[in-house]
Amino acid sequence: MSLSNWMKFGRGGRPLRIAYGRIFHEANAYSPLLTDFSAFDHAALLKGDELARGATLGGSELPGFFPHAELTGFVQAARAAGNVEAVPLASYIAVPSGPVTVEAFERILEDQIERLKQAMPVDGVYLALHGSMEVKGLGEQPESVILRRVREVLGPGPRIAASFDLHANLTDETVKALDVLIGYRSNPHWDLAPTGFRAGNRLIRALRGEIRPVHAWRKLPMVLGGGTTIDFLDPMRKVFRHMKRLERDPRVLSATLFMVHPYTSADDLGWAVHVTTDGDEALANSLAEEVADKAWTQRFKEPPPMLNIEQAIRDARASSRRKFGPVTMIDIDDIVGAGAPGGNTQLIRGLLEHGQDLIAYVPLHDPALVEATWELPIGSEHTLTLRGTEGYDMPEVTVRATIAARIDSDMGRKVRLDVGKLSIAVMEKPPLPIHPRYWREIDLDPRKADVIVQKNFFHYRMFYAAISFDHLPVVSSGATSFGRVRERKYFTPVHPETHIEDWRQYDTTLRMRRAAKATELQANK
Ligand SMILES: [Zn+2]
Repeated sequence: MSLSNWMKFGRGGRPLRIAYGRIFHEANAYSPLLTDFSAFDHAALLKGDELARGATLGGSELPGFFPHAELTGFVQAARAAGNVEAVPLASYIAVPSGPVTVEAFERILEDQIERLKQAMPVDGVYLALHGSMEVKGLGEQPESVILRRVREVLGPGPRIAASFDLHANLTDETVKALDVLIGYRSNPHWDLAPTGFRAGNRLIRALRGEIRPVHAWRKLPMVLGGGTTIDFLDPMRKVFRHMKRLERDPRVLSATLFMVHPYTSADDLGWAVHVTTDGDEALANSLAEEVADKAWTQRFKEPPPMLNIEQAIRDARASSRRKFGPVTMIDIDDIVGAGAPGGNTQLIRGLLEHGQDLIAYVPLHDPALVEATWELPIGSEHTLTLRGTEGYDMPEVTVRATIAARIDSDMGRKVRLDVGKLSIAVMEKPPLPIHPRYWREIDLDPRKADVIVQKNFFHYRMFYAAISFDHLPVVSSGATSFGRVRERKYFTPVHPETHIEDWRQYDTTLRMRRAAKATELQANK
């Protein structure tokens, strides 16, 4: 066999064998809803052969979310490279919510580890992770535990690649555990499959000795709100464009800016820049500094103006775009896509007090109310109290409501209550009304509303592009209130709470925080 042919194979001239799987969750430490195993046990839980079928261009990898995501991208990279055997483990994902229970985490990890043992021997492993997972009572970052356990099974030879959400909180342990580390390139995230492809491509080339990935990373003492972190809008557009330009250089294997999920309890939370080059450590370091400087200079840009409920109702009523379709009120303090439970009753109270003239559709998480009203006849009228999510401390709102419709969907049971012109979709699971079908299935026409309340920053816009033309961010208080981010505990001073001249002041402390904590823990044992 010629050398060039040999290079296309793994060690010993046989095809490379790479296992792949997913453990994916974004935790919101302010949600009272813990995430148990049932949150991962749905149509998108695929194991072994099922995953292999799902992660193809003809299959669906995350039924109900995305047909093609990281693992489909990875399988495509393996096919494109040729002579790579992709071995499916399992794909576990839950929608963002409160921290995961230890029982659920251990059950999921045990299953993956057992599958990996069955798959051995392998040359490498690729995992789609999030990077802002939290497990209640675990005491360390779940992602590092996952990677450690995987390494124990693999032994020292095989290589590990992982991809992360842009909202990951990077730590020294995860960076050190990985040969290939890739993040999404877009926020909101549209590029799940291309991310998996890049991770697979880098891993395969590294295994064949075609590249030698070396990492450099920096951590910045800053945490900003969602409105300032969109990749194609100011202020971050410049930084994302710069990283794209860097990646055109063949020496640069990846450049990523991680902007963290701010609603966790990690005390070393902070933005991070990660750069991988092909064997050039000095270059990786200088580019990481360069990108960090660029992100740091954008830190004073203000997020878009937020409205309180009364102002938002006034603006919606006065909106000239209302004649073309409903005004969207984005309930930014109760974003289900960022792990909030969706049980905010404050907008409902506001609409009843100040917006009775508006036809408004509002979703509400209130399982107790679904249970209490599920058997009531359609068309009957009742005095009901809305409380939202249990333990979420929302105001109680008592209404005289008509039971207008109900449906048992794949998103759980949903009851429509009508109070004058207000329609409330009461849900047993956290509501994600990103598709207009959410209203149609309870006999509401989204075009006829004056106001629709969303629990999502951006993704809904894709489905409402021809329906809603005015989008108002509304402030109240809930699990995704930015005020919580400002008041939470940090290990170092953090921008914008503290004026910090140079991010380098805290870079090393932040990067080494987990290692320091582990040493402390050992010493106390
Ligand atoms: Zn994210």
